Formats: sequence, structure tokens, C-alpha cells
Amino acid sequence: MTKSDNPIELVILTGAGISAESGLGTFRDKDGLWTKYDLAEVASPKGFAADPGKVHDFYNARRRNASEASPNAAHTALVELEAKLGDRMMLITQNVDDLHERAGSRSVLHMHGALSRARCAACGATFDAPQVMSADDPCPCCWNNATRPDIVWFGEMPMHMDRIYAALAECTLFVAIGTSGTVYPAAGFVAEARAGGADTLELNAEPSAVASAFADAHYGQASQIVPAWTREVLAQFE
Ligand code: NAD
Repeated sequence: MTKSDNPIELVILTGAGISAESGLGTFRDKDGLWTKYDLAEVASPKGFAADPGKVHDFYNARRRNASEASPNAAHTALVELEAKLGDRMMLITQNVDDLHERAGSRSVLHMHGALSRARCAACGATFDAPQVMSADDPCPCCWNNATRPDIVWFGEMPMHMDRIYAALAECTLFVAIGTSGTVYPAAGFVAEARAGGADTLELNAEPSAVASAFADAHYGQASQIVPAWTREVLAQFE
């Protein structure tokens, strides 16, 4: 991969942990939404084919939870960083909520898709998702009843991977926030960034499954450790 004219210096990857203090359950929460459903049934193409209504119910509940939640100080801190770094920063999230955008982030790559978007499995069109989706919804482009959440399910290809790998190869710092390091390919980003010569930092509640791959780490609640880190970075510009 070649270095571009305007290299991305900072790549940030966020996971469910950044939204935990906003009240959205992480993957591993004992009482979270995920524990009430079988993932294979609600987050796979096979599960959708077997029972689209059940899958829509699951994502309708998640869409409702996300719309009732508010961004926290960690989301806001990344907005301030983007305001300073602009195109020199890439923010990638595994989250399907829109808390980064609602905090004010302008450019967010949702590698696992977004609750706010829908897709037609028949013609491939993508469009804004209604708050409540159902198996009977017609596609606004081809009118087939084949709409689904525009979310990456297990066994499907994450989005924006070419841009992400190009940025990981050229960045000077990679930071992972609130992610357990158990879901690939995102869990492999730290190794990609290191291979390209980047410094690496983990910000999480506890050491992730790939913690040993990071050069540095701060552990604690995202609403505390993320603003503390962004203050340090922003101080370098003063
Ligand atoms: P995960 O649940 O596997 O890991 C969350 C990580 O965040 C854990 O390591 C945990 O220790 C840490 N964490 C929990 N609370 C924290 C806090 N307050 N501050 C800092 N860290 C905290 O989530 P993941 O790594 O993002 O991967 C799981 C998959 O689940 C992803 O594919 C993601 O798309 C999906 N998911 C998304 C959402 C969302 O959109 N909000 C919620 C749950 C799961």
C-alpha cells in the first residue's frame, strides 16, 4: 500500500465499551440484550432467513435503546480531537449506535453497519431505516419485501475495509477504545498498525484479549480515561 499525500496520523477504533456508560449493553454484559437472544438466530443471514420477524424485533429493540441513550464524555472528547486533527484522524467504530454522530463527530466509519440504516436484500439499495422495521416493509427502490437492517452479521464482510487497512498502514498512532479484542477483523487492527510502524494504545475497562499487542494502555471507565488522553493530545497543539 502506498502512502497518500494527506496521511492519516491517528486511527481510533471504538467498541461497545465506549457506549456502556450511556446505558447501552456491551456484548459481554450479564443482563444485556444480547444474553436474551441467541446470536446465531438474530445476527446471521441464516437466522434472518429462518425468522425475519424475530431479527427485526431484536434490532427494533436495539434501535429504541440507542435512540433513548445519550453520548457520554468519551464520545464528546473524540469530537474535540476531530475538530483539531480533521482529515488526519480516522474514527472507526464497531458500534451500530449513532452516539458518535450525536456527540458531533462528523466522519465515522461504521465497520459493522448502523441501526439507522436499512438495506434491500433484493436490489442492494441502502436507505434510512424507520424506527420500527418489519418483514413486510417494501424496499423504496424495487418494492420487494426484502428489507433488512444495514448491519454486518456474523459471516458477512465488514464495511470500509480497504480504507481502514490503508489508514492502518500509514498511521503513526492507533488507539483502541472499549473493545474486547475478540471480534475479528477489528481485533487484528493493532497488529496491522504495528506492522506499519505505528505506536499503539489501548483504552479499556480491563486488558483486552489482544492487550499484549499494544505498546501502551490506560485502564478505567471510558468517560474518564478517554477525555484524559485527548487532553494530553490536544495539549501538544498549544
Ligand atoms: P465487547 O462487548 O466484546 O467488549 C466491550 C469492551 O469494553 C470490554 O473489553 C469491556 O471491558 C470494555 N468496557 C465495558 N465498559 C466499559 C467502560 N465503561 N469503559 C471502557 N471500557 C469498557 O464489544 P466489542 O469489542 O465492541 O465487540 C462486540 C461486538 O458487539 C461488535 O461487533 C459490536 O458491533 C457489537 N456491539 C455493539 C454495541 C453498540 O453498538 N453499542 C453494543 C454491543 C455490541
